[in-house]
Amino acid sequence: MYNPKSHKAEEFICHEEVLDTLKYAEENKNNLEVIDKILNKARLKKGLTHREAALLLDCDIPEKVEEIYALAREIKQDYYGNRIVLFAPLYLSNYCVNGCVYCPYHLKNKHIPRKKLTQDEIRQEVSALQDMGHKRLAIEAGEDPVNNPIEYILESIKTIYDVKHKNGSIRRVNVNIAATTVENYKKLHDAGIGTYILFQETYNKESYEKLHPSGPKHNYAYHTEAMDRAMEAGIDDVSLGVLFGLELYRYEFAALLMHAEHLEAAFGVGPHAISVPRIKHADDIDPDAFDNGIDDDTFAKIVACIRIAAPYAGMIISTRESKECRERLLNLGVSQISGGSKTSVGGYFKPMPDSEDSAQFDVSDRRPLDEVIKWLMELGYLPSFCTSCYREGRTGERFMEICKSQQIHNFCEPNAIMTLKEYLEDYASDETKEIGEKLIRKEIETIQNEKIKTAVIENLKKIEQGGRDYKF
Ligand code: SAM
Repeated sequence: MYNPKSHKAEEFICHEEVLDTLKYAEENKNNLEVIDKILNKARLKKGLTHREAALLLDCDIPEKVEEIYALAREIKQDYYGNRIVLFAPLYLSNYCVNGCVYCPYHLKNKHIPRKKLTQDEIRQEVSALQDMGHKRLAIEAGEDPVNNPIEYILESIKTIYDVKHKNGSIRRVNVNIAATTVENYKKLHDAGIGTYILFQETYNKESYEKLHPSGPKHNYAYHTEAMDRAMEAGIDDVSLGVLFGLELYRYEFAALLMHAEHLEAAFGVGPHAISVPRIKHADDIDPDAFDNGIDDDTFAKIVACIRIAAPYAGMIISTRESKECRERLLNLGVSQISGGSKTSVGGYFKPMPDSEDSAQFDVSDRRPLDEVIKWLMELGYLPSFCTSCYREGRTGERFMEICKSQQIHNFCEPNAIMTLKEYLEDYASDETKEIGEKLIRKEIETIQNEKIKTAVIENLKKIEQGGRDYKF
């Protein structure tokens, strides 16, 4: 029944295959011979199967766990260097007709203020985000065909791209909206979106149906097959994720990798990125009501094992997590983070008092973007506002090829330097600017290709003179 090439949810996320995988992992988690064989394969840095990765996740032998962490760090360094890409979520509307029991937007929640941004309000939000320095957004909306139809989403995307405030511009709009039709995915593709993001929440069908008791999202197959429809519509950068805490993490981990394998098997392109959100407190939602919460150590191991199993997929961690937790995960494989985020509708232009706030969930890392940038640089990372790949047509298979041959550094490193320079010129505090200028001088020296190096130095001068948006 298990068939990674099938387009049927229950065949590519085959329940029996997940259970078999977990059984295999449990039975072999102390089998040093098998573990070493898997670790040796992982050292080739070309990924692991869901079975192999599930076994590493289960392994508790301290020396082997250390090897897993060391390898995750190495793979991260090889594929992503010290770059960390920045983005912010933009909540358009919290009207929703679904009944998701973990989400405060659920239809029965009568005390959360409902709000949908007008196009003028979107312009205000985007200006505020541009004033922080953001270039890449992920738009978020509840599912409501009347209040948030696809036409509203498309109009909003256009509005966002059109806002040009001072030196600011949003150059990549990623979209996190409910599963939809091929026709609507085509429209999103034509609107020039970056990545289509959809979290599976849980891959366990039985739990999924209980956690989504009503509304269109109740349909497990429709939700799980959404990425197939998105790919069919031409969106070849898709981003997966599960909401950790809802179901047993081992199940989710194995199934998430099966989903990635399915995309690769069926479309020749794995996920562009994988998000690892954990459930948080929110209006009407108590995370303790879900008894599958995972501690920070388990979470770190999950991140490390994803990094090893899927080296080509970016990994995203949001401000749901604290500064300390993010710091640990950056080191183990995370390549993209949000910063200065607000999870309420209209939260950037006009922050609300808590009583009137429509926030989706509590944010743990509440630092302003400038502080996040400074912190990243002090930790030795190179913050990047790059949006170049998809604008240069490096998406889907093309992106994967460049990524797999590790040539992506030739583009990402210079683009990171140039977009950081823009940030320093336009938005940084004096202290951040000083640290950033020093970092840029150091990073330029690491560019191997002399031609690229010379071009970057030229472009940095032009940025100082007011030029913007140079990219490879
Ligand atoms: N409504 C869209 C859908 O149906 O997929 C997506 C937008 S929703 C704003 C984005 C994500 O927030 C959801 O997919 C879910 O994983 C996450 N989320 C919902 N409630 C949450 C909570 N209490 N804590 C953390 N994340 C939550």
